[in-house]
Amino acid sequence: MINKKNLVFLGPPGAGKGTLSAPLMEAEKLAHISTGDILRGEIAAGTELGKSAKACMDAGKLVPDDVVAGMVANKLSSPECADGFILDGFPRTVAQAELLKKELEKIGSKLDAVVLFDAPEDLLLQRLTARIMCRKCNTGYNKIFCPPKQEGICDACGGELYQRSDDSLETAQNRLKVYREQTAPLIDFYTAAGLLVTIDSSLPKDEGYAALCAVLQ
Ligand code: AMP
Repeated sequence: MINKKNLVFLGPPGAGKGTLSAPLMEAEKLAHISTGDILRGEIAAGTELGKSAKACMDAGKLVPDDVVAGMVANKLSSPECADGFILDGFPRTVAQAELLKKELEKIGSKLDAVVLFDAPEDLLLQRLTARIMCRKCNTGYNKIFCPPKQEGICDACGGELYQRSDDSLETAQNRLKVYREQTAPLIDFYTAAGLLVTIDSSLPKDEGYAALCAVLQ
């Protein structure tokens, strides 16, 4: 059992935010809000929002703050967040963090902790470029560190595994640069707010999960 339940997972792409979200949301019945997953859903559904976000995502750039903040606001006020939530990949700029604070204040809520997933860049690039995901259930695998039992097939649901177009080496490098320039300033922002806790996300999944539960006590 954890005590801190309204959470932001902060960290560079490939740090394992999605990987460790899955067991925590199941154990604690938390809602999982991944802005990347929502945007990929919009692209798959061919919506206007998806069409306008696709170019930014394919280039490894950020989608405009107001677009993602609007998507998150809708979710936060929904009943699925009543027992707590994991914001995975949001906020990614100081402006988004300020919009989030206002939105939570509006609904009489607040964050309990911001978990920084810390890992060296060479490991992140190795993870990103070998990462594959299920088209149906979004479960993540890695061709090197965590391969599926049968090549190309999801262990969990039998769905088809694919490589995200923004996990190519060039785009992954861009995404890490965008993280350093636009998202890393949130480390100081949330340290000043007294909310930041850090885990070593170069650890294998089980050890990383234990470290995560320990900082959320
Ligand atoms: P992710 O799945 O979290 O790695 O996100 C994939 C891509 O979606 C990012 O590279 C951005 O283009 C876009 N994206 C996801 N979340 C955000 C956000 N909070 N702000 C701006 N862009 C985002």
